[in-house]
Amino acid sequence: MPGIKALNRFMGLLDSPNLGKSCFVAASALGLAALFAVWVAITFFFTDFGNAYLDPYFATRVLMLHTSAMVFWTLVLLLGFSLYRRNRNPDWFSYLVLAAYPCFLMPGAWIYGWATLPAGLILVGSVLVGLVLFQLKLARFALGAGAILFSLVIGLTIFGHLPYAPLFAVHPLSAEPVSPYYLVSEVILASPFFVVCTLIAAMIIISWRKREELVARLSMTDELTGVANRRAIINTLEHELARSQRTGTALTLAMLDLDHFKQINDTHGHDAGDHVLRDVTQRLKGALRQTDSIGRLGGEEFLLILVGTSPGSASRALERCRRVVSATPIQATEDVSLTVTASFGYCTVQPGAEEDAHTLLLRADEALYAGKEAGRDCVSEWQPA
Ligand code: GH3
Ligand code: MG
Ligand code: MG
Repeated sequence: MPGIKALNRFMGLLDSPNLGKSCFVAASALGLAALFAVWVAITFFFTDFGNAYLDPYFATRVLMLHTSAMVFWTLVLLLGFSLYRRNRNPDWFSYLVLAAYPCFLMPGAWIYGWATLPAGLILVGSVLVGLVLFQLKLARFALGAGAILFSLVIGLTIFGHLPYAPLFAVHPLSAEPVSPYYLVSEVILASPFFVVCTLIAAMIIISWRKREELVARLSMTDELTGVANRRAIINTLEHELARSQRTGTALTLAMLDLDHFKQINDTHGHDAGDHVLRDVTQRLKGALRQTDSIGRLGGEEFLLILVGTSPGSASRALERCRRVVSATPIQATEDVSLTVTASFGYCTVQPGAEEDAHTLLLRADEALYAGKEAGRDCVSEWQPA
């Protein structure tokens, strides 16, 4: 159904980078400013209500405010699109959007009257959207900026330094100026609700985020060794492959399989085998560079992704990995230490070559098989047939 599809795409926003979310906030602020500008312009210029109730000075000021907001948010959106095209996602852009949002919202809330239903809905809604969409550090920053501005507006109106809802020359509901008593009552009655709503929303959203992060981490991690599991390492491969094609750097994919591993299980037990798998993983991790990735494909098979490596340097790095596995015996149980060897098969994608992840996996697997045939404990490069 198109409605459900649109909703799903919209929900995808939750997983998008901050740039996309910030652009969404900017677009909604632009929409809000346009709606208010059109409404005030129509009522002010074309209705009796405008003449009777709206203060001409503030009506023109509020139109200027909304127009400048529209210009500002359009520029922000253009900036967002240009960052998107350059594949950038800087934090400062989110801070800019989240700081500007209350700066435009609060003067509006003051001119229309902050103790009103729409102002309350917009304020509570902004807090909720901020908490749902952004990490806590960004949401906290925006909430802090908003709270300071909002308290300032409330304080100045209650103490009589600013008129309340100056857009309305005569208050349309009472035909009397709004009294400070009314304003103080509004603050006293609404602020506990506002604070409780914000706290509950924050608690729910933070615990939901934590759970989501845990589930995401568990679904991507191999339980035994703690490195990426099959799904995660193949994801990384696709990601790194796209990046190497974009940036024109070489990439090496290596598959390794422990030699005669079944014998270790059969002779010393499954626990000893598990211990060997964990130890080998730590050794391989230590031998790789920070930018390389390792994952367990399953059983005693691992995948290594070496970025920015020529075939020569890949073979040296993999030789290092091969040696680190077999260099010293592994303490498999309290009284058994074993020397373990592994066979490696690898292929390198040259810059500009359009290869897909599946092809590379097949090649690395073929090279690994050739290494096993050649006698194991070796590093073999894939050779085209
Ligand atoms: P080759 O040198 O040809 O690779 O021989 P191999 O014995 O290593 O190959 P094979 O694929 O026959 O053996 C893999 C063994 O790995 C079989 C299985 O019992 C064991 N294995 C798979 N997953 C685990 C695991 O999570 N823990 C342990 N301890 N063993 C596992
Ligand atoms: Mg094996
Ligand atoms: Mg195997």
